[in-house]
Amino acid sequence: MNRILIVEDERPIADIIAFHLKREGYETEIASTGTMGLEMGLDQKWDLILLDIMLPGMDGFQVLRKLREKITTPVLMLTAKEEEVDKILGLELGADDYITKPFSNRELVARIKSNLRRVNVLDKADDSRKNRIVIEDLTVDFDQYQVYKKDQNVELTLREFELLKYLIQNKGQILSREALLKEVWDYEYYGDIRTVDVTVRRLREKIEEEPANPRFIMTKRGVGYYFNY
Ligand code: CA
Repeated sequence: MNRILIVEDERPIADIIAFHLKREGYETEIASTGTMGLEMGLDQKWDLILLDIMLPGMDGFQVLRKLREKITTPVLMLTAKEEEVDKILGLELGADDYITKPFSNRELVARIKSNLRRVNVLDKADDSRKNRIVIEDLTVDFDQYQVYKKDQNVELTLREFELLKYLIQNKGQILSREALLKEVWDYEYYGDIRTVDVTVRRLREKIEEEPANPRFIMTKRGVGYYFNY
């Protein structure tokens, strides 16, 4: 059973989310402050964390930053409609996805399933098939879900890894941001193409020697991105 941590200070909202997720077969726990969310997020094993931004005391961004120092569990941020800038900041800090309030339960469950599906696929990857590529000082192990730069392990979030994997699988081919959003995020209706730009930027900072002058993930201005191989 998949376990989901709900970090949300507004109890009625948290309860409604928990109710719907339980009905879908998920196990849930609620943390009503940022500090509690951080503690529970690190102390227990979760399949996904739903993280509200506006929390008393430690806010969602601070919690996310701390979580990302230790774990790569998928984090879905809950943002308010007027927090446009916040969505982007959340992604920059390592959120995998976000959902804008007010959201329907159907939309929430769809986004959760999309994020969990990717984790489950990765968990079930067949270890006997050695599936890795080495390009100069970059090594990507698709089975182990590991990336190394100069033999040093690089910590990527699931989305960053999925994006890198998709770019490599389609190396040399220019991929539009819309296409990437659809393929990597599974977004058909709810997406924002800036999500792609932010994730590319984060990925470059992690794997490129000079993120501003990339060697691997190239920009085709006005079109999209491609993996240079
Ligand atoms: Ca709140």
